[in-house]
Amino acid sequence: MARDRQSALRAAKTARRADDDTLGPNYPVDYLQCRDLRHAWKLVGYYRANGHIVRALVCERCDMDRHDRLWSSGRLAGRTYTPPEGYYVPGGVELVDVRAELMDRFTIFESEDDMVKDKEK
Ligand SMILES: [Zn+2]
Repeated sequence: MARDRQSALRAAKTARRADDDTLGPNYPVDYLQCRDLRHAWKLVGYYRANGHIVRALVCERCDMDRHDRLWSSGRLAGRTYTPPEGYYVPGGVELVDVRAELMDRFTIFESEDDMVKDKEK
């Protein structure tokens, strides 16, 4: 029974991937890079709110906002993210699929020298 259920779940997941092209060409490459490499946080500044000191950050690549609520000791009290439109994908995504999509979108050179030469153009 449990085995049937696992098979059914696996089949449903595979079907979902084939049906909705969530990471397809319309999904921004900046979002893919942030999912794979993590966000490139830049400090916006600090402000006081509700007894905490809030550290405001923004991702330089995808514009995700992050607000860390800190105690004056530096201890983290909580954290809030505000994603750019379309960043979150219903049902989530697998990191392996993100990496595969990125490799589809970038040139894969035959050697490091070829890659460096291309960057110098
Ligand atoms: Zn980002």
